[in-house]
Amino acid sequence: MHYDVVIIGAGLGGLECGYILQKNGKKVCIVEKNALIGGCLQTFRRRGMSFDTGFHYVGGLEKGQMLHKLFSYFGLMDLPWVKMDNAFDEVFIEGRKYTFRNGFDNFQKTLTEAFPHEAENIAEYVSLLRKVGENTNNSFSPRDNDEFYSQSLFAQSAYEYLEKQFADPALRDVVSGTSLKLELNAEKLPLYIFAQLNSSFIQSAYRLQGGGMQIAETLRKHIEEMGGVVRRNAEVTGVVENDGKISAVVINNGTENIEADFFISDLHPATTMNILSDSKLIRNIYRKRICSLENTYGMFTANIALKPDKIKYLNRNIYAYEHGDLWHQDFTDGVSAILISMQPPFGGCEFTQNIDILTPMNWSKVERWIGTKIGNRGNEYDNLKKEMTQKCITLASKYIDGLADAIDEVYTSTPLTYSDYVGTAQGAAYGIRKDYNKLMFTVLTPRTPVPNLLLTGQNLNLHGILGVSMTSVFTCAEILGMQNITNDLNNY
Ligand SMILES: Cc1cc2nc3c(=O)[nH]c(=O)nc-3n(C[C@H](O)[C@H](O)[C@H](O)COP(=O)(O)OP(=O)(O)OC[C@H]3O[C@@H](n4cnc5c(N)ncnc54)[C@H](O)[C@@H]3O)c2cc1C
Repeated sequence: MHYDVVIIGAGLGGLECGYILQKNGKKVCIVEKNALIGGCLQTFRRRGMSFDTGFHYVGGLEKGQMLHKLFSYFGLMDLPWVKMDNAFDEVFIEGRKYTFRNGFDNFQKTLTEAFPHEAENIAEYVSLLRKVGENTNNSFSPRDNDEFYSQSLFAQSAYEYLEKQFADPALRDVVSGTSLKLELNAEKLPLYIFAQLNSSFIQSAYRLQGGGMQIAETLRKHIEEMGGVVRRNAEVTGVVENDGKISAVVINNGTENIEADFFISDLHPATTMNILSDSKLIRNIYRKRICSLENTYGMFTANIALKPDKIKYLNRNIYAYEHGDLWHQDFTDGVSAILISMQPPFGGCEFTQNIDILTPMNWSKVERWIGTKIGNRGNEYDNLKKEMTQKCITLASKYIDGLADAIDEVYTSTPLTYSDYVGTAQGAAYGIRKDYNKLMFTVLTPRTPVPNLLLTGQNLNLHGILGVSMTSVFTCAEILGMQNITNDLNNY
């Protein structure tokens, strides 16, 4: 069978590209190495409960906001989205509580109440977030001018901006408090990425009842209904090249070749380079550049199953930091910062059945177990996970009364789990580390030196559900032309 496009990887990026291309008349085949699709959206089930691996909440899902437009286009707005409390995130730094509220005015008011001496600076900051939000929401609309872009917030340091913007270091910490998964890298993080993430959640924050896997499964269903193909247990292990292009992907070490005109990789670009290790089309200099890119840190996750009717459901997240100075935290040892998130219960129940606790975990903590098999990595690894779990629970217990006694079972994952399951380089939670000093090197375009191979997914530009969804459009525009997609997209 010859396809118009073969997509490598059925993560969010791969599935969304499949949807766009199939909707526009291309014959698409998505090949996924695992038995389950979804990549970081995977949900696992234990004791009748579903647990999320890499998805907890999304921003910008209200009408007029970017994710709403994209998810309406992708047919995902009928999923059981649950709007979070207006106070959607609580940030505790050294025990002091601060609240993030939905709506720029509410957010500004609450922050100003906590830091009245910074009122003017907060107003300026919120104005920046508002502008970034408007810019994101209009990403696929015709623009009158590009003045905002020319300011190049990508080429500015987020940390330096905050240092200049706010005199009070406590305020700098607070506005950074919900960016735990993002990796607050003072030397590298571009302002645009920081502002875009914060702006989207301040616009609106939603959870998904039943888990993130529904996003992947719904996309798969739509793609198949339109005539596309989604193959599981089909790992791409190489490519066939002819006439200066890729002509086919090799599945499961040669059991099958699948031919196409175009290929899109939803994999980490370094993983894509591994698949192309024998390629004559990729120069060593490009390969080296891609493989030497740094990655953000990964996360340790404790998915906790609770005894029934013990812990009340919180329709908001809790971020807790033991120490201030959030941009200079050392996560090499111990657990000093966590995100506590709950899944919306069914049937209006006031109690939650599960709690996820996430904490940053450096790759160096787990890399010695590379090559071992999941579930069989040995006692030392198991002990490390037990120790991390205990520390997570101890810290979370300060904010969730009765947590320790309510726990029934705990399931854990480390960056090594993500690396093995999904193939994410170093189990990075948010992919390649973007560097405002080296934008041209760390922010990638979908194009590669191979004329018919494109990239997509969280590693290119902006990460997370919103970032990946926007990148899918940019990747497919390379094949379909942007106008063809936006004509349709802007009807939503
Ligand atoms: C712990 C954690 C928490 C997160 N929380 C949030 C959140 O609350 N909100 C949010 O917006 N974002 C969150 N994210 C980020 C979000 O989940 C990701 O940005 C997004 O799901 C990435 O999608 P992707 O398509 O780029 O890549 P992936 O999900 O990594 O998909 C890649 C796919 O390719 C497959 N694959 C790999 N190698 C091969 C091969 N050789 N052949 C075939 N298939 C292959 C993999 O199995 C996988 O299915 C979180 C991420 C993590 C890790």
